Amino acid sequence: MATIKLWFGRQNFHLLKSFLLLKIIAVVFAVLLFCEFLIYYLVIFRCNWPEVKIRAYDGKRETLEPVLKAMFLADTHLLGEVRGHWLDKLRREWQMERAFQTALWLLQPEVVFILGDIFDEGKWSSSQAWAEDVERFHKMFRHPRHVQLKVVAGNHDIGFHYQMSTYRIKRFEEVFNRERLFSWKGINFVMVNSVALEGDGCNICSEAEAELIKISHKLNCSREQAHRSSRCGDGQLLPASAPILLQHFPLYRRSDANCSGEDAAPPEERGIPFKERYDALSREASQKLLWWLRPRLVLSGHTHSACEVLHGTGIPEVSVPSFSWRNRNNPSFIMGSMTPTEHALAKCYLPFEDTVLITYCGAAGFLVVLMFIHFGLLASPFLFGWQLLRKFKTM
Ligand SMILES: [Zn+2]
Repeated sequence: MATIKLWFGRQNFHLLKSFLLLKIIAVVFAVLLFCEFLIYYLVIFRCNWPEVKIRAYDGKRETLEPVLKAMFLADTHLLGEVRGHWLDKLRREWQMERAFQTALWLLQPEVVFILGDIFDEGKWSSSQAWAEDVERFHKMFRHPRHVQLKVVAGNHDIGFHYQMSTYRIKRFEEVFNRERLFSWKGINFVMVNSVALEGDGCNICSEAEAELIKISHKLNCSREQAHRSSRCGDGQLLPASAPILLQHFPLYRRSDANCSGEDAAPPEERGIPFKERYDALSREASQKLLWWLRPRLVLSGHTHSACEVLHGTGIPEVSVPSFSWRNRNNPSFIMGSMTPTEHALAKCYLPFEDTVLITYCGAAGFLVVLMFIHFGLLASPFLFGWQLLRKFKTM
């Protein structure tokens, strides 16, 4: 008799154990699914393309201008083999991949611009490490054929001016194309290699400036279609629209003191003066860009924080914050609805890292309580409530 009881006891214990295991697996699976997958859909689903004025007057007629949906992100800093711990790498890259893929699926942009510092160690990585980083980039930022992905170089991709070399620039441009001018739906985008705007007359810098002057000339020809100078020739004209400037370094500004918003630089850092050619372009290079290209909007990266600045005669510049959770708790990207004459920008935040961590901690606490209840170390809240009710009834 005693052996049968013991046998039933053991069976019950095994059943209880496997039931507990099932509960734990279900909770872990649900939390992982939420934190690593669903949260991106829930958060990015709330982002909408901003509305832009599409009616323009062409002489006497009213015309409807086409709208280009463009997404801008910056400073992804894919970790390299020297500074990147494998777990950090795995975590950050998974987060960025999920965020990017979800945004592509939900928002359907036509073109995506990444404003530099795609890699963290492009400035010193060996050719093998570079090839591995590039392969991971292509996997994370895969996109359908009809979506264009354009990239500008940052100081972490090719090095600051003193580290930059023709070899590094070439290997970057072999992967990402060396195009500087991109026109679509009547909108001109100029993609500047801002690291080469040191202004010291080095070979790379002189070439970069010469290229920009050429682009400036082309843009001027398209602007003055009615009174074209003979120097414009008969070549194909660009759309007659002021360009949008895309670069890694921001145009010169004293500091981030006038920046505001929840993703601006922290208050204690805002007042720190910017170093020219390090935190931002030099005054001289910034002036040149504004004179040569006469942009209607500038978008830049590098600072990892958000800011909006007005330059010269009111040309707005938007600093796009970092897209990586390694650099921010609240990464984001910019959604732009563009027409040849107008633009409207909106920011789309990604899930906050805090939310994910709190959810994991909450789930871990819940599992501990579940196990305590299961092994009778803690009275189940339901049982406790029931007993309390009974007590009151009998009183
Ligand atoms: Zn940078």
